[in-house]
Amino acid sequence: MSARPLIRFLGTGWSHGVPMIACDCEVCTQRHPKNIRRRPSLLLQDARHTLVIDTGPDFRDQALTFGIHSLDAVFMTHEHADHVMGFDDVRRFTWARETPMPVYADPHTLARLKIVYPYVSAFRIPGKAVPKVGFLPWEAPVSLGDFRLTPFPVPHADLPCHGVLIETPGKRIGYVPDCSDLPAEALEILGDLDIMILNALRHKPHPAHLTLESSLALLHRIGAPASYLTHMGCDFDYPALNPTLPAGISMAYDGLEIAG
Ligand SMILES: [Zn+2]
Ligand SMILES: [Zn+2]
Ligand SMILES: [Zn+2]
Repeated sequence: MSARPLIRFLGTGWSHGVPMIACDCEVCTQRHPKNIRRRPSLLLQDARHTLVIDTGPDFRDQALTFGIHSLDAVFMTHEHADHVMGFDDVRRFTWARETPMPVYADPHTLARLKIVYPYVSAFRIPGKAVPKVGFLPWEAPVSLGDFRLTPFPVPHADLPCHGVLIETPGKRIGYVPDCSDLPAEALEILGDLDIMILNALRHKPHPAHLTLESSLALLHRIGAPASYLTHMGCDFDYPALNPTLPAGISMAYDGLEIAG
């Protein structure tokens, strides 16, 4: 484990993942390793803590593939299935805990999680194999180890959705896996960044997401020295597109590690 804080992309795909079921496009059929995109999730790790932002349907595969052996907290950006539907598998990380593992989300998303996972409170019953977690409201910065995570609202499909400002002792990192735009308040929070990670869904406009073109325009405005695209569909072929992106902007891929 690195002494420096580390950020790792566990998933960089849109809600379908890439390859997408029943898609015959070149990206889906050729399966270049950097075009394999699990549902969106980000791992944050320092010398003593492991955190994840979102636990989508691929969370089990991500934990096995990328060798996650412990987990200290979960942060949820919003209620959509591609961000929360692997949550049950956090229970493996809570077996040995004496206290519930914190799971942070905005109050609306917490209420939805309690509906989808009504059994989590059953951990108090001996023998119940359920996640031993505590749902906590995430409306202000939360600090854990080397990381300070501040949620901020972003427009996305008419439901509460949050981007995250990740601060470490050396860096300011923005992470917005889902949004249709970034309002002035969000751009203000995303000032003076070292790294920006922003969604780019596809070429064709979508009411709830950024296109590649709109994402690149926002990244240009944010002006971080290093930027990464995530939450991508199968329009984007890594070997073809990545070399053509503007200086400082790269496509992320599953497993990519960046220094935090
Ligand atoms: Zn999503
Ligand atoms: Zn495809
Ligand atoms: Zn979403």
